Amino acid sequence: MCGIIGYLGGREATPILMESLKRLEYRGYDSAGVAVLEEPRQGHATRTSVTKSEAKVDTLVEKLEANMPSGKLGIGHTRWATHGKPTYINAHPHTDCKGKIFVVHNGIIENFAELKAELEAEGHEFPSETDTEVVPHLIEKYYKGDFLAAVRAALKRIHGAYALAMFSSEDPELLVGARLNAPLVVGLGESEYYIASDITAIIPYTKRVLVLGEGEVAAVTPLGPEVSTLDGVTVKSKIVHVDWDVAQAQKGGYPHFMLKEIHESDEAVANAMRGRLSDDGAVSFREFDVSDEQLKSVKDVLLLGMGTSLHAAMIGEYVIEDWAGIPARAEDASEFRYRRPTVGKDTLDVVITQSGETADTLVALHQAKERGSLSVAVTNVIASSAARDADGAIYLHSGPEIGVASTKTLLAHTISLYLLALRLATVNGRVSLERRQELVESLRALPEQVRGILARDEEIRGLAEKYSKYGDFMYAGRGLGFPVALEGALKLKEISYVHAEGTSGGLLKHGPIALLDDQFPVVAICTASATKDKMVSNVHEMAARNAPVIALVTDGDHSLDGVATDLFVMPAVEEVSSVILDTVMLQLFAYHVAVKLGQNVDQPRNLAKSVTVE
Ligand code: GLU
Repeated sequence: MCGIIGYLGGREATPILMESLKRLEYRGYDSAGVAVLEEPRQGHATRTSVTKSEAKVDTLVEKLEANMPSGKLGIGHTRWATHGKPTYINAHPHTDCKGKIFVVHNGIIENFAELKAELEAEGHEFPSETDTEVVPHLIEKYYKGDFLAAVRAALKRIHGAYALAMFSSEDPELLVGARLNAPLVVGLGESEYYIASDITAIIPYTKRVLVLGEGEVAAVTPLGPEVSTLDGVTVKSKIVHVDWDVAQAQKGGYPHFMLKEIHESDEAVANAMRGRLSDDGAVSFREFDVSDEQLKSVKDVLLLGMGTSLHAAMIGEYVIEDWAGIPARAEDASEFRYRRPTVGKDTLDVVITQSGETADTLVALHQAKERGSLSVAVTNVIASSAARDADGAIYLHSGPEIGVASTKTLLAHTISLYLLALRLATVNGRVSLERRQELVESLRALPEQVRGILARDEEIRGLAEKYSKYGDFMYAGRGLGFPVALEGALKLKEISYVHAEGTSGGLLKHGPIALLDDQFPVVAICTASATKDKMVSNVHEMAARNAPVIALVTDGDHSLDGVATDLFVMPAVEEVSSVILDTVMLQLFAYHVAVKLGQNVDQPRNLAKSVTVE
């Protein structure tokens, strides 16, 4: 999720690690650390110096400057905690029992709990709460004198997402990198080599980069990197020349963080499911560890959020009612806090906040807690106020989101709420095994389907440019398409400053339709759903007022051919999947309108990423 740097070469590693970690700070992180293999001093064995900070890189740098380890091999890390609080002990690098193997990791080891139990039974000790710590211990378990072989054997046991940089003090000329579902590159300098999660870390040192493929391991020695699979089959990797400056590298070559983050939606969706969903639809949340009995006693669900999170809450409301058959209501937290709400001990209070610090949402959480309800925070930030104050947390694991307007985190919120709904439905015996399996299949297909929409970026840009001349927009949808429409309108106004409003298809005739004419386009969510035919009728009503209509329709559905001005054809998927795909499309649409109008999409005027005041 956050930053990795590794160095092997002829220069002192520590200053390079320090500088690279500074350059990775832009991503946001909670703690940092380095391990440097020190040059053997006369009469002394090689030793590794580990320096960590539970705060910012500056604190780490101060510690290093006071006591600078000298060595030509080292690894560094900025951590975005997913498992275990941002403490000194949990900061990376992590090591094995003998203190010989050092590892930094980005991502999530899905099966760490089983592996940890196995290793503990064999006598390994784990000071930290992280998932990462199983990696050095597994390598230690398999180490028979060949570090690379032990790394391969260990990684074969690991499921999930990892970018890793590792070394062993037994092999002072070997730096190893590996990746699965998380980015990692090897930078090639003049007789010196780097491993980095992000090109930003190494851009001043080299422009020649080797991008590791999924499931590949890079063994870097003074002779250069050798890349192979976990089975030891050599891979011929392509070297790419990266001509970016630091600002471009931070954005991964995209012109804006927002676009980069929309293009991370597939990963965000996959990460929100990772390790939580089994084939039969059973759902487990590690940090929201409630029993089925406790969940069975839930009689109603209150979902609190603001802005984009309120739209996630509305999506949650629909699916919890539909699947679990429990009354659910999404509430604007800023209104809820000043009412006299009817929540009690049987209420499950679901607090939705990307930052975990949204002031209104926190107060509403405290009020619901005072009335004795069970609470869970759904948030991207580990140990944030919401996560600490609620009874449990469901973390999004989306990695840092820098663009002020939320994009990938909404998708992760939506997936998390689907999983929660599925869990509630299962404990209440509301969905058959067959239906659960169908849902699991649909959810697992989503990352690939999201990539399908992202690949149509140019098509969406064309549409956005065509419509960017209009000063007003209406977004309309029904059912799950209603919060999607509200979010589409919010995204457009947030970043392009173009007036946009969202409405349900049903409400249209009760007022908003008065606005429509040939200068007031409508974005209509008409993808397959129980209320699709009703939306089709609404689109006829819009077209009769001469409003230009962009309709999102399902492949094979021709009911709006010749009625809507533009059709955007979506794959035929479940309605819950359409929510995700339609949202990605509308985020890209808003992005391209804003860019066409020359707006500052990453930092729109008057808005803040984390709204910590009322
Ligand atoms: N899952 C690991 C942890 O919580 C790595 C997090 C990261 O990507 O920074 O320590």
